[in-house]
Amino acid sequence: MSAKPKRGFRRLEQDQLARLTFLGAAGEVTGSAYLLETQHARVLFDCGMHQGDRRSRALNSRRFEFDPGELDAVVLTHAHIDHSGLLPKLVRDGFRGKIHLTIPSGALLGVLLRDSAHIHEQDTKHENRRRSRQGKRALAPLYETPDAERALDRLVLHPFDRVERLAEGLRVRFVRAGHILGAASIECWVNSETVERKVVFSGDLGRRREPLLLPPEAPRAADLVLLESTYGDRDHKDLDATVEELAHALRESTRNGGNVLIPVFAVGRAQEVLHYIAVLESAGRIPELPVYLDSPMAIRASALYQRNADCLQSNSGGARCTVREPRQLTLVPSPQESIALNEQRGIVILSASGMCEGGRIMHHLRHNLWRPSTDIVIVGFQARGTLGRALVDGASNVRIFGERITVAARVHTLGGFSAHAGQTELVEWVTPMIDSGACVALVHGEVDKRAALAARLSGRTRAPIWQPLRRDRVLLRERGEPVGFESAADESARKR
Ligand SMILES: [Zn+2]
Repeated sequence: MSAKPKRGFRRLEQDQLARLTFLGAAGEVTGSAYLLETQHARVLFDCGMHQGDRRSRALNSRRFEFDPGELDAVVLTHAHIDHSGLLPKLVRDGFRGKIHLTIPSGALLGVLLRDSAHIHEQDTKHENRRRSRQGKRALAPLYETPDAERALDRLVLHPFDRVERLAEGLRVRFVRAGHILGAASIECWVNSETVERKVVFSGDLGRRREPLLLPPEAPRAADLVLLESTYGDRDHKDLDATVEELAHALRESTRNGGNVLIPVFAVGRAQEVLHYIAVLESAGRIPELPVYLDSPMAIRASALYQRNADCLQSNSGGARCTVREPRQLTLVPSPQESIALNEQRGIVILSASGMCEGGRIMHHLRHNLWRPSTDIVIVGFQARGTLGRALVDGASNVRIFGERITVAARVHTLGGFSAHAGQTELVEWVTPMIDSGACVALVHGEVDKRAALAARLSGRTRAPIWQPLRRDRVLLRERGEPVGFESAADESARKR
């Protein structure tokens, strides 16, 4: 490993054990990426894509702030695209190291990165047709399928709970984080001959009581914790109450003979909703329903959930756990079978995308939204500006594929399915580490959400609660204060 600093890397001072730079998800919820530089190695924790707003495209396509060819390794908390989606670009731009992640995350990453590459190829093709009509030059996709395959060739899979050596003076361990299949928090130890410091990356934390997965585990001690703050300002509704709401919505909807549309995220939420429909059916709380899972990605993800039973909660005293499925479940892999659903009534369709921003759910909405007998059941977060949000907010008509469609369907919004810990759960997870003297940096949260969490946490500790911005840094020192914070704004002011 070269000790010579290259683009974006700077030499560490004598008494500095390591430097951590916040490169994304600093005051926002996407683009997770944190660069750790030690005396011996340069490691990127997560390599996420920016998603959701107009700036994302520019942020994703700009040059990495370091030379990917000089990076030694990537460690991934979980497979979600906002934590992994720029890996194909990293490899295309010269990264030749290994990508470390848990065994189930590896399987899921294959599904998600291939899908992401396909979307980039399709979107660019579409955009370039438009551009050529305007006499503009064609754009290249952010990355393509071969780039995703090359990234997947670099995976090194690890079990949970085992300490792994990544480089001289650098070890990591993956511990369960709930959230989605394979998701982990990462404990990372950096040591010299004389001292050792520990950084914990929370990754995305699930809820204490997850529908399917084992709950998050909290490491007991750390010098520094990077804590996610997606729901730093509030707690979620109780899960039992939400399942009751689902039962109520399904009972009501089946009475009027129309279709029930459930927009779902293909990984996690689709499996949870199928599981609860099955549970409600076998408890006799809803009638047996013809359910169609209309999403190739959700079908693949469901198979992975089934295959990784060791990641699931045991819900019946030691019996082998499986993700349950409704008795009359039909998988819909092909577009032809999806189109055939247009002619059917009295069925339940689960389809992606979860925020109604593309995918097959758009066709089902177009065919069903205008019918008063249709019910839409919203089971996931709907970001501002999405079609899903417009439905939640009671829009009387919406635009789909350029056509104005009247909304005559009933919309049921269920609040309590969330893959993220609420405020109280975040506080409880981090408390043992705060009690051990850890400093906390709040990441992966919108500015107001993490400010609320910072306020709640600062009542519990005299240690600083940082709210870093992009390019801010933390130093791990051999002597004196073990952890120090450097604001990028202060530094550029000093240079001026
Ligand atoms: Zn996630």
